[in-house]
Amino acid sequence: MDKSGGCLCGKVRFQCSNEPLFQFICHCKDCRKQHAGIFGSYVSYGASDFSFTSDSKEMLSENHSVGDSGETKKRYFCANCGSFIYFKIPQIADALSLGVGLFDDPSFFTPNMQFYCKDKLANPELDLAVASFDTYPDEVKSLVHLK
Ligand SMILES: [Zn+2]
Ligand SMILES: [Zn+2]
Repeated sequence: MDKSGGCLCGKVRFQCSNEPLFQFICHCKDCRKQHAGIFGSYVSYGASDFSFTSDSKEMLSENHSVGDSGETKKRYFCANCGSFIYFKIPQIADALSLGVGLFDDPSFFTPNMQFYCKDKLANPELDLAVASFDTYPDEVKSLVHLK
């Protein structure tokens, strides 16, 4: 089902079609900083199922960080209000991981994986009964059904 979303100020708007590839939580320090929260929560779509509406793409600012895998992660933010929009996981180049809070109706969120559990803050609500990894493992690629 198509899902729409956008940033806090509304200058960046997007639409996603079909179903997400996967949905996840990440407890790494970079995701905490990026979300300004205790973890990051994401919905990943194939790039071909994602499109900006209007001229949103011109509103993006880009930030690069190098993760502990040594690979560069590209993160995109609204240049006007600073909302995080999405990042690209180096291991899965043709997927976008969008912040779930951007969606106009984020109630569909049902994470099926969580990463960087080694950095997880103590919080009983985060003891999810889903596939959980100390870091971001290579085998995720085979767990996700990429088109
Ligand atoms: Zn904005
Ligand atoms: Zn992370």
